[in-house]
Amino acid sequence: KDRHYMMMVRARIPGGILTAEQYLQFDAISERWGNGTMRITTRQTFQLHGILKGDLKATMQAINESLITTLGGCGDQVRNTISCAMPRREPYADVVRQDLLDLVDRFSARTGAYHEIWLDGEKVDLPTDAPEEPLYGRTYLPRKFKIGFTYEGDNCADVYSNDLGIVVHLEGGTVSGYTLLIGGGMGRTASDSSTHPRLASEFAFVTRAELGDTCEAIITVQRDYGNRENRKVARMKYLIDEKGLEWFKHQVEDRLGHQLTPPRDLVWDSFEDHLGWNNHHDHDECYLGLFIPEGRIKDEGDYRLKSVLRQIMQDYGPRVHLTTQQNLILEGIRHADRLQIERLLRQAGVPLVEEVSTLRRNAMACVSMPTCGLAIAEAERVLPSLLPQLESVLSQYHLEDEPITVRMTGCPNGCARPYISDIAFVGRVLGKYDVFVGADAMGTRLNEVFLEQIAFEDLASTLEPVIALYARERKEYERFGNFCHRVGLEALRDAVRMVR
Ligand code: SF4
Repeated sequence: KDRHYMMMVRARIPGGILTAEQYLQFDAISERWGNGTMRITTRQTFQLHGILKGDLKATMQAINESLITTLGGCGDQVRNTISCAMPRREPYADVVRQDLLDLVDRFSARTGAYHEIWLDGEKVDLPTDAPEEPLYGRTYLPRKFKIGFTYEGDNCADVYSNDLGIVVHLEGGTVSGYTLLIGGGMGRTASDSSTHPRLASEFAFVTRAELGDTCEAIITVQRDYGNRENRKVARMKYLIDEKGLEWFKHQVEDRLGHQLTPPRDLVWDSFEDHLGWNNHHDHDECYLGLFIPEGRIKDEGDYRLKSVLRQIMQDYGPRVHLTTQQNLILEGIRHADRLQIERLLRQAGVPLVEEVSTLRRNAMACVSMPTCGLAIAEAERVLPSLLPQLESVLSQYHLEDEPITVRMTGCPNGCARPYISDIAFVGRVLGKYDVFVGADAMGTRLNEVFLEQIAFEDLASTLEPVIALYARERKEYERFGNFCHRVGLEALRDAVRMVR
């Protein structure tokens, strides 16, 4: 008897923007072929889980019919390009959106095989002298390549975690250019000390006209020199570490035929995910950022998130923005419809962000078990039971309103970007986690490993002495991560040792 293999399908949704009709198509696909849920990822797209191997083709064809593709959702190529999810209606936002879409188009694989295999259903008969991909060649990139956009000052998208971060600069309401950051990436392998997370380095300033060629030159340096022998160190961050930023810069300049302009100084004010009700700048309509626990859109008992979103899409037709913090924004809501939408959400047991605790709304978990094949510990399924324990500790010290970011992953790959959170729990073996602290809230400093292999049931109690110390000794307005970084890991470990 044939085994029933289950697959995950990940779409490519540039900037996480969908029409209501496209959203409804994903909803229908997840009901018909998936496990009935939709998972928003930190790369602003949907993953559909539980697709049987025999249904893959129908699923991908249905996604394609909604004018969305899965090409570039995975693989050693440019992946889904992310962006700050705030719905902006000023004219400059159209310019940035177009620049983003131009890059997506430019860096999409030209292969015909995808369409032949998944969409047309025709027999594949590849000629032996098939033309090479103009950018990717016959062997594509050494590893995945991630690009992220954000606006200067607003780091909701964790732009430093990308291979190529693109920061929009505005002057007088127009786009004056972009600062490029290169060499970010979260992934590491616990057993291999040569691997590590890295934040992107500030690299160059480019005008709009220079953006495409400069990005392509950067990608081709990685294509030509990235490590193709050991996948663990194949991301562009390792090439930059090995050769140095100056070497990389000269490579890019040689390919462009001109010198690069130094990057602009960057100042960050916010990492918030644009949740809650907000007005558009023209004030005729508003948008609603909805907190989605663990990014999972589902119905479960009295909690009817999936059903109510379906109804809102059908009745109000909002534009949908998936966020890089696994939430969802509904754009284009008339003010007159606000109360009714709130009523629908309440009836479905879906809280508005004001009713969600500060800790909860700033927490993320990766998918992990049971659908991620790389998982070695739980994440999405256990974070909801850990957060109340941490909330209880925080409230003992009157810190419940402190915006502390908690991120949990089921392995060191770091899909929920744990290494730039105030507190990270990274699965090490089944039931045990390494604990990281000390990152900067604005995503510009990595955290460090603080304790290793702590049992899940001990995580909150182990952190209590650290939280107590923070309550006692922090400076005014000092964030938890900054405090941990200032006092140092040894002082924090001493605090833990004293109560053991
Ligand atoms: Fe990513 Fe690892 Fe989590 Fe799987 S278990 S989703 S690979 S971080």
